[in-house]
Amino acid sequence: MSLDARLDAIEKLTSAGLGSLIVHPGDALYDGRIASYWSKSQHVRPWFIVRPKTSDEVSRLLTALISCPDCKFAVRSGGHTVWTGGSNIADGVTVDLGAMNEIVYNQDTKIASIQPGARWIQVYEELDKHGVVVAGGRDGNVGVGGYLTGGGISWFLPRFGFSCNQVVNFEVVLAGGGIVQANREKNPDLYQVLKGASGNFGIVTRVDLLTFVEPLIWGGTRLTNKSTTAIHIKALIDFTANLQRQPENHCGVGWSYQPDFNDIVCLQFMSNTKGVERPAAFEQWLRLPAMVDTTERVTVAVRAKHAEEPDGYYTTWLTSLIKNNEATVAEIVVKHNEMVEKLKSKFPSSSDFWTLALFQPMPGFIGKLGRELGGNIMGLDRIEDDALLVLTGVHVKEASMFEIGDALCKELHYQIDSLTRKNGTTLDWVYVNYADASQDPFRYVGHENVAKIKAAAQKYDPSGVFQTRCLGGFKISQSKASG
Ligand SMILES: Cc1cc2nc3c(=O)[nH]c(=O)nc-3n(C[C@H](O)[C@H](O)[C@H](O)COP(=O)(O)OP(=O)(O)OC[C@H]3O[C@@H](n4cnc5c(N)ncnc54)[C@H](O)[C@@H]3O)c2cc1C
Repeated sequence: MSLDARLDAIEKLTSAGLGSLIVHPGDALYDGRIASYWSKSQHVRPWFIVRPKTSDEVSRLLTALISCPDCKFAVRSGGHTVWTGGSNIADGVTVDLGAMNEIVYNQDTKIASIQPGARWIQVYEELDKHGVVVAGGRDGNVGVGGYLTGGGISWFLPRFGFSCNQVVNFEVVLAGGGIVQANREKNPDLYQVLKGASGNFGIVTRVDLLTFVEPLIWGGTRLTNKSTTAIHIKALIDFTANLQRQPENHCGVGWSYQPDFNDIVCLQFMSNTKGVERPAAFEQWLRLPAMVDTTERVTVAVRAKHAEEPDGYYTTWLTSLIKNNEATVAEIVVKHNEMVEKLKSKFPSSSDFWTLALFQPMPGFIGKLGRELGGNIMGLDRIEDDALLVLTGVHVKEASMFEIGDALCKELHYQIDSLTRKNGTTLDWVYVNYADASQDPFRYVGHENVAKIKAAAQKYDPSGVFQTRCLGGFKISQSKASG
C-alpha cells in the first residue's frame, strides 16, 4: 500500500510539472533537511520531501498530493516543533517550505513580506539593512511559519503581545488549490484563526508583518549558582507584577541541569528593547554573581544569533500556565530538581542530557493586548491574573535515553498540575508553540474561539484535508474542546 501510494504521489507530482521539487532518500539534500529539524525526535524519514519555492507551486503540489487517496503529508517551515511527527512524517510526504524564505521590505508601507520558511535570523539581518525590526523569534533559528501561526513570544511581548498580533495579512493556499489573502478586510475569519490555530486551514505562503524602528536592544543570559534560587523566585514574582509599568523589559527565569557544570544552575535571560543597559527592573538579579553572563547591547539580529540553542537532542517539552505565586514556583523547582536526580540515577554518569524548568512572565494585560490589536484566537484574554508560562523540558543525546527522559518529563508535568490544582494556582491555558503532542491546547481557548476555529476549518477546508490528510500540529477535530 505504502509503496503504491508513494509511486502514485511521485507520478502525480511529476505530471503536474513538479518532479524537480522532489528530494528522494539517498539525495544528500534529503539527509541535510532531516538533520535540520532542531529536535532529533523529529528525525523520521518521509517517503520523500517536496520543496516548493512559490505559492503557485504550493497550490499545484497540494492538488497533486490530495489526488492520491492514500497519501498523507506534513508541512514544515523552520522545523522547531520538538515532538515526533510535529512537522515531519514517516509514512507520507513532507512539504518542506525551507526554500520559501524571501523577505521583502516595503519602504512606503513599512511592512515586511516574509515567506514562511525563513528563519528569524534571516529576517532580522535583511531588515537591518533598512533600519527596522519586527517582533519575531528570540532564537534566530526558529522558523517564521510555525512560530507566527502558533502565537509567538518575542522580546517585545510586553509591548505588542504575541507576535501574531503584528501580522497584517496572511497569504494562504487552501486545500482546493485557491490562493487567498486573509486580513481585516478579506477573509477576516481566516485571518483571526490563523493567529494561533496554525495548520488547520491551509498552507501559509506569505506573512505581511508590521515593522518598527529599534536600533539596539540590551540583553542576554546569566547563569548563577543554584544557591541563589530563592532570590530568583522573589525577583521573578516582583518583575511579573510590575511588568505593565515597564513593558520595554522582558525576561525568563529557569532551572536547568547542565552537563558542563554537572549541576543544576539558575538561568535568567533578560532584555530591554529600548537598549537601556542593566535597567533597574533587573537589579535584584544583576546583583548576583554570574558564572556566565552574555548580556550585550546589540542589534536584534546579533542578539537572535547569540540566542540560538544548540540542536541535536531527543526532546520532550510540556507547558502550562500558573498564577504568579512564589510558593508554587518554589515547589515546582523542587520537583524539577528531584527529576534531575532521578535522571542522573538512571543514566550512566557521563551521559549528555539537559533539563529545563522555565518561567516566563505572562501578566493579565498580555492577553488583552491581543484583543486591542485586532484579536487572535489564543484565548489568553480570558485570563485576568498575573501569570507565569511554565515550560518543562528534558533533552537527551541518545535515542536509548529518550523513553526515560520522556516519562520523567511527563511525570514532572503531572506533578505540577496536581500541586497547582491543590494550591489553587493553576490556570487552564496551554501555549500551542510549546505544547507536547499529549496536550490539547484548543481545549483552553474558550467556547467562542473554538466555534470560530471549527467554522473556519469547515468553510475553508470543507473536505477536511487539513484534519485528516495533513498530519502534525494540533487539529481542532481531535481536540476535546467544545464550542
Ligand atoms: C530552540 C527553540 C527556541 C524557541 N524559541 C521560541 C521563542 O522565542 N518564542 C516562541 O514563541 N516560541 C519559541 N519556540 C517554539 C516555536 O515557536 C515553535 O516550535 C514553532 O512551531 C516553530 O515554528 P517552525 O516554523 O520552526 O516550526 P515547524 O515545526 O516547521 O512548524 C510548526 C507547526 O506549524 C505548522 N506550520 C509550519 N509552517 C506552516 C505554514 N506555512 N502553514 C501552515 N502551517 C504551518 C507545522 O505543520 C507544525 O504543525 C522555540 C522552539 C525551540 C525548539
